[in-house]
Amino acid sequence: MKTRILSLILLTVFASAAPAQKNEQNRPPIIDAHVHAFEKDERWTHKVANPLTGQPMTATTEQSHMQATLAEMKKYNVVKAVISNDYQAVLRWKAASPDHIIASYGFYDPSSQDLAFLRREHAAGRLMALGEIGAQYEGIAPNDPKMEPYFALAEELDIPVGIHIGLSKPGIAYDDAPKYRAALSNPLLLEEVLIRHPKIRIYVMHAGWPMLDQMVGLMWAHPQVYVDTGVIDWAVPRKEFHVYLRRLVEAGFGERIMFGSDQMVWPETIGMAVEGIESAAFLTEQQKRDILYNNAVRFFRLDKK
Ligand SMILES: [Zn+2]
Repeated sequence: MKTRILSLILLTVFASAAPAQKNEQNRPPIIDAHVHAFEKDERWTHKVANPLTGQPMTATTEQSHMQATLAEMKKYNVVKAVISNDYQAVLRWKAASPDHIIASYGFYDPSSQDLAFLRREHAAGRLMALGEIGAQYEGIAPNDPKMEPYFALAEELDIPVGIHIGLSKPGIAYDDAPKYRAALSNPLLLEEVLIRHPKIRIYVMHAGWPMLDQMVGLMWAHPQVYVDTGVIDWAVPRKEFHVYLRRLVEAGFGERIMFGSDQMVWPETIGMAVEGIESAAFLTEQQKRDILYNNAVRFFRLDKK
């Protein structure tokens, strides 16, 4: 989710001392399918507080943001995270913590990307996935012809693709992303893409929230489609998230839902997101493990820890 929230609340930044050391050593492994790295970000300039908790922002550089995010991952035993845009920052995160990072190339505007660069990065063994594709912010639908070369490339290289479909910051079309349209949140807009590229390994980020019926329809008709729970597991009201998640599970898709935090500039949102899954009383322990870990192992073809 792209949220350049301009908060006027500039809170005093306290030292980023980690909260009381909770022993998380016994936690089972988690994979986070949706994390962001940045070279710079205007939210850092404005020290935008966590929109849910009001907690002051503490990491306001690439380095400190990376360190705080890696520390949060360690705390919750997140053994791998799919990290996207900015790509050069992603590569530096990867160098800093090679075992924990799946480097992904994300973009917003499909007309200004260099496909030859992506091929080279993949050939060099650096680029492992495409996404987050945020074309919705540019008013571009998943089935727009401009998107076609990327889907074709991902299918050819057999790399996973994560596409933003769904929510953003409320009111974003009036400031940060004038071309963003909620109408493009319809997951069924992916249908022709799937037909054209039957081998593509694609996951719908944010599980297409709030388009639940359309999401169920797409997953039912196209059994290869996965989703992630990015941002909806901490930023939308918890009850609403659980209603949404429960329906996807009860419709039979519990093995195609992957945990994602959509950590943007608030590293603590990883823990908040984990809590969103763990607090779902309607899930069995096995279903929680599937969402938090097993499904991503299968989708990203990882070795089990
Ligand atoms: Zn997103």
